[in-house]
Amino acid sequence: MTYIGRFAPSPTGLLHFGSLLAALASYLDARAHQGRWLLRIEDIDPPREHPDARHAIPQTLERFGLHWDGDIVFQSDRHALYQQALTQLAEHQQAYRCSCSRKQLLLRSGSSCYDGHCLTAAPAIDQPAAWRVCTHQAEIQFTDSIQGTQHYRLTDSGDFVIRRKDQLYAYLLAVVVDDADQGVTHVVRGSDLLDETPRQLHLQQLLGYSHPQYSHIPVACNTQGQKLSKQNLARPLDDSKPVPQLRAALRFLGQNPPAALQYASRDELLKWAITHWTPLSIPRCMAQPWRD
Ligand code: GLU
Ligand code: ZN
Repeated sequence: MTYIGRFAPSPTGLLHFGSLLAALASYLDARAHQGRWLLRIEDIDPPREHPDARHAIPQTLERFGLHWDGDIVFQSDRHALYQQALTQLAEHQQAYRCSCSRKQLLLRSGSSCYDGHCLTAAPAIDQPAAWRVCTHQAEIQFTDSIQGTQHYRLTDSGDFVIRRKDQLYAYLLAVVVDDADQGVTHVVRGSDLLDETPRQLHLQQLLGYSHPQYSHIPVACNTQGQKLSKQNLARPLDDSKPVPQLRAALRFLGQNPPAALQYASRDELLKWAITHWTPLSIPRCMAQPWRD
C-alpha cells in the first residue's frame, strides 16, 4: 500500500505542544506504515502570519527529529493550482460569486448560514466578490479512524467561501487541492479540524479527487480548558529540550514508552515509537489538560 501523510502547519505562530501532537502523530503513523511524510507550510493568509514562523517551523521539526521527505511545499507558491480548481468548479456551475457582507446576511436571514442569495442575483462584474461553492444540501458521512463515524449536513453552514472578497484563497480550497496534488492518502491532524472535514470531502467529490483517510487526534488544552493555539499564546516548543516534550506528547497520544527508555535519546525514543505505534490507544478526547 502507498502511504503519503503530511503535516500542514499555518505559519501564524511558532509551533506549540498542540502542534507537536499533530506533527508527531502524523509522522509516526506515516513511518509505521513505511510511508512518506511531507511538510507543507500553509501560508495563504499573509496578514495572519508570524514573521519568523516559516523559517522556525522546519527548524523546530528538525530539532525534534521529525524529518520530512522531499522539499517543503509553500502554499504561497501554488495560487495557480487553486485558481485552476476554482475555474473548474465555476465552469461546472458549482461555484459562484458573492458580494454579501456578513452583516447583510445576518439582516436577511438572521443567521450566518449562507442563504444562496447571489446564486440567483449575481453581483455586478466590477463589484468585489468572494466565491462560494454550492453545497446542494449534501449529507456527508465518513469514518474517522479515531473519532468514528461522523454525519454532517452541509445545509448547516450553507454554500461556503473558497475565495475571499480580499482575493485570498480559503483554507478549505487550498488544503483539498494540495492534498490531492501531493497524493496524500492519510490525514492525521487535530480534532479542531474535524468539523472542517465534511466540506473538504464535498470539495474532493466535486473536483473528482479521491478521499484520504482521516484521523483526528484529541487537541491539547491548557488548565483553563482552552485549546492550545497560537491565538491563546500557547508557549512555543523549546527547541533545546526535545526529549521531555516528545515523551509528554507520546503519553498524551496513549503511547507509553517503557521505563527502560527513561534515559533514551531523541532518536531512540522515536524509533521505539515508530515500532510500537498503536493508533488504537490514542484517546478520542483530551485525557487531561496540558500544564503550560
Ligand atoms: N494549516 C492548518 C492549521 O495549521 C492545518 C491543515 C490540516 O492539517 O489540514 O490549522
Ligand atoms: Zn451573496
